Amino acid sequence: MNKKIFTDMLSRRFEYLRISVTDRCNYRCSYCMPSDVFNKDYSYIAQNKILSYEEIIHLCSILKRVGLKKVRLTGGEPLLRKNIDKLVHKLKTESAIDNISMTTNGSLLTDSKLEQLKSSGLDSITLSLDTLDSGNITKLNGTKKHFDIDAVLTAIEKHFTVVKTNTVVIKGINDNEVLDIIKKISPLKSEIRFIEYMDVGESNNWNFSKIIPSQELYNLISSKYELLAIETDKSSTSKKWLMKNTDASIGFISSITEPFCIDCNRARLSVDGKIFTCLFATEGHDIKKIIRANRTDEDILNYFYKLWSNRSDRYSEIRFLQKKDLPKVEMSYIGG
Ligand code: SAM
Ligand code: SF4
Ligand code: SF4
Repeated sequence: MNKKIFTDMLSRRFEYLRISVTDRCNYRCSYCMPSDVFNKDYSYIAQNKILSYEEIIHLCSILKRVGLKKVRLTGGEPLLRKNIDKLVHKLKTESAIDNISMTTNGSLLTDSKLEQLKSSGLDSITLSLDTLDSGNITKLNGTKKHFDIDAVLTAIEKHFTVVKTNTVVIKGINDNEVLDIIKKISPLKSEIRFIEYMDVGESNNWNFSKIIPSQELYNLISSKYELLAIETDKSSTSKKWLMKNTDASIGFISSITEPFCIDCNRARLSVDGKIFTCLFATEGHDIKKIIRANRTDEDILNYFYKLWSNRSDRYSEIRFLQKKDLPKVEMSYIGG
């Protein structure tokens, strides 16, 4: 198959796969898995429906042939999945993925876990950190207590050199912490990213009044620090600024106010083996069925090729133009 023509209807290449390795999480963030919906009666994906590591590795090896360069392990909380370091190692050595990253809530990170992940071949780790305030953690993340933030930041820096963080900013909840978070992280070599609260899934009761536009945050931060624009990769989700005289950068992921669909090179693989060509998709495509039917690699490739060739998603660009909202899948299932 000719790599050069592996583009979608909007001429976008496929290069990046985000994999949800589990739909379970030990947190109940109000914006992702609110506790009133994700309670003891919630039905998670059954064990026999979850893609095995072998199946993930097999699929990634095939997709590597048509341009897959980068894989992000996410979920749910990826560190809840047993032996995740083994998956990292095989993705690197057997599937030959150039760049493997992970997003985690950090609660299960220790110095030795980080060392293990690094030596398995993980290239970078992103820590979700919405608050430094122990009074806010329950409201935001639905957990009782913070992990030791300083210890985790030090260990990430030790093993991965760069500390990358994600903060979802919600009006009236943690917007007053933005400068504190920067103050804490910017002395480190770091990439500090602020995410506009997104309307993912059906359970978080999202509405526009809860978001803080990135421009507002930029104005706030630049009134205190000198920010120098940095060129970012075309397909990057964030716009970045270097904080002058530091090793830290600030990034904004502005899915609501500045959509970046035009260069979106990402697909998602749900925990039960469905490909989603957009974070806001209503339906996935059951590639696991093809894999489990023992079809040839060429068949699997053709299935994916058809999906990507027919892709025209650009939800963030048309979010406010749509006449009716179709139901969306949850982020923990599809992979954040
Ligand atoms: N459990 C891991 C974690 O929290 O880092 C990985 C999965 S989580 C779904 C991945 C990322 O999605 C996190 O950084 C989280 O803050 C972000 N996220 C989840 N729901 C979101 C929403 N409604 N809007 C914006 N970002 C969201
Ligand atoms: Fe769990 Fe991450 Fe979702 Fe929070 S954002 S509930 S930590 S999956
Ligand atoms: Fe990509 Fe869909 Fe997000 Fe647009 S809305 S950037 S197409 S995942």
